[in-house]
Amino acid sequence: MRGRELRGELDAFLAETEQELVAFRRDLHMHPELAFAEYRTTQKIAERLAAAGLRPSVLPRGTGVICDVGSGDGPTVALRADIDALPLQDEKDVPYHSTTAGSCHACGHDVHTSVLLGTSLFLAQQAAAGLLPGRVRLIFQPAEELPGGALEVMAQGGISGVDRIFGLHCDPRVDVGQVGLRSGPITSACDKIVVRVSGPGGHTARPHLTADLVFALAKILTELPAALSRRVDPRSSLSLVWGKVEAGSAANAIPDDGVAEGTVRCLDENAWHAAPDLIKSLLESVAGAYGVEATLDYTRGVPPVVNDEVSVEMLAEATERALGAGAVVPTQQSLGGEDFAWYLESIPGAFARLGTRSPDGLTYDIHQGTFDVDEACISMGVRVMAATALTALWEVGPLDPITSAIV
Ligand SMILES: [Zn+2]
Ligand SMILES: [Zn+2]
Repeated sequence: MRGRELRGELDAFLAETEQELVAFRRDLHMHPELAFAEYRTTQKIAERLAAAGLRPSVLPRGTGVICDVGSGDGPTVALRADIDALPLQDEKDVPYHSTTAGSCHACGHDVHTSVLLGTSLFLAQQAAAGLLPGRVRLIFQPAEELPGGALEVMAQGGISGVDRIFGLHCDPRVDVGQVGLRSGPITSACDKIVVRVSGPGGHTARPHLTADLVFALAKILTELPAALSRRVDPRSSLSLVWGKVEAGSAANAIPDDGVAEGTVRCLDENAWHAAPDLIKSLLESVAGAYGVEATLDYTRGVPPVVNDEVSVEMLAEATERALGAGAVVPTQQSLGGEDFAWYLESIPGAFARLGTRSPDGLTYDIHQGTFDVDEACISMGVRVMAATALTALWEVGPLDPITSAIV
């Protein structure tokens, strides 16, 4: 019963609010702010939430907002949007072109922010009408692109007491009105490594009196990725690829140090956790065989976003409830990274891909200065996020007459 009413309530809400949300997005688009510098954006969000009678709380750095809607002892569901822009030049010829040189909302975070703002306003109305069976935590997260904003939110207790979390991202390869879903990993991990090798150098006429460092480094460059591919499940697609190597300065002199840098990409969460120790031990064994000293600097990026199956079912049910049958489309795991992954290391949840392409229109790509969306996606996103929060609360909440009526 509630599920059927929801669509009509969303129609009525968006008939009044959609234009404001599009204007809000365009304002953010004209004033993009980079990671951990989203002061104006934060202010705009907090002001609008407060005007709706909510009590937003700005994170201690002054960027990012957390705000609870509803109260009581019921379950808590979190909805997250990222709010930062990219250090790219806006190349679009539109009235809402970026007014800040070298900054652009080229990853659609202005859309995510507007979607979550609209969802917040709708949920505030639901709470005021006594229709929210629990609490929804709205997380306007700074600095996704750094990355690091998710860890900042978590350090501030942003997901403590939260049972389940949902988020979405613009997908310019999916038509507006559709939502891409997938259980399991949906993005990938990407880390950076730096290997430094050292050993006694000397004349190339007498390599046996040196560590023959360039030869040893070459062995590490080829044997490390090869050994790795035999030590982890091939389905995890753990791959080490070198991008930079430096050693020596003359054709007839063996140097005493060298360096190689590369990335470690991975589709699988368990393999990602095991990667640093495994690479370190393989490096030591290859370097040891050639008599050179080797050190490893391993810099973590983000883990893969791994969608929880139950949460994906909730998203699918909510999407069909809000957008109609056929709105859910399958999506593939991408090789990109997304710091929403950090939340899912602690609590269950799911990340959706929101279609932003005009049917028969151009396909843009994110992280390009030409990226733009069909703005109808904003109201679609509000429908999906609002329905998802309510569906999740109905399903994890205590069985009451409202809950049993919609099952
Ligand atoms: Zn991005
Ligand atoms: Zn993004």
